[in-house]
Amino acid sequence: MAHSIGAGGVAQPSQPLRQRLQAQLQACLPHNPDLVLVTDLDGTLLGGTPAWRRRLYAWLATERHRVLHVFCTGRDLRSVARMLRAEEEALGLAAPHLVISDVGCTVACGLSLETVPLAVDPIEARWRGRPERVLPLLATLPGLSSQPVTSDRRLAYFIDPDVLDVRHLASIEAHGVDCLISDGKYLDVLPAGVNKGTTLVAVLNLLEVHPERVVTAGDTLNDLAMFETGLAGVMVGNAEPSLKAALPRLPNTYLARGEGCEGIVEGLHHFGYGPLLAGAF
Ligand SMILES: [Mg+2]
Repeated sequence: MAHSIGAGGVAQPSQPLRQRLQAQLQACLPHNPDLVLVTDLDGTLLGGTPAWRRRLYAWLATERHRVLHVFCTGRDLRSVARMLRAEEEALGLAAPHLVISDVGCTVACGLSLETVPLAVDPIEARWRGRPERVLPLLATLPGLSSQPVTSDRRLAYFIDPDVLDVRHLASIEAHGVDCLISDGKYLDVLPAGVNKGTTLVAVLNLLEVHPERVVTAGDTLNDLAMFETGLAGVMVGNAEPSLKAALPRLPNTYLARGEGCEGIVEGLHHFGYGPLLAGAF
């Protein structure tokens, strides 16, 4: 092969994207995964009964050589780390291969939780200069209070829906950001054009996997962008009503009856992954 690993294991720009990505990760990516499973966390991978969650987590841990698992969450990395420590102990949730956090604004190795420059640098470039412009404007909007998250490439607020006038958000967006309300109580201010869907597509491009092998799963409006990619999607049964309302225009998204992990498994059966689940479900 014409490509090589440089001194110290640093990938050279001439290498295929996937090798360059792997060089920035501690987690070892499955070579030719049968499935890339992309799961939101709260309400999705962390949703459902403890029994269903335990079963799905055990399956993911057993199959990690052929199921490439990606978290795709609104949480920041510190919160993901806290959650992983707690859930690994409680229900056996293993670290994923990759984490897309901050509603698509951060990409990190699932094991080390170190950010992946190959994926994050282009997002950083879109965010530069934006906080300085929008923070003073957001400070004057009634009905917003800051969420205690790190502000890497995004700003996060709790909203009071009775007070916030969403029409004002258009004037914020005029400064090169997108305003995303989720679950009726969260506002995320993101670099324009960056969301869970666009970052997932960028990550899949780095992974060089066939889109036919990808299944996404989510439950709130910040997951809509994943479903809008056209990749196979599982809307879990406990999805928020405004997300379910989008279903008619999401032809490749399946609405599960089951909640959280049960819904994910149901969706995997729907999309033909029964043989991969055989024996476990
Ligand atoms: Mg969720």
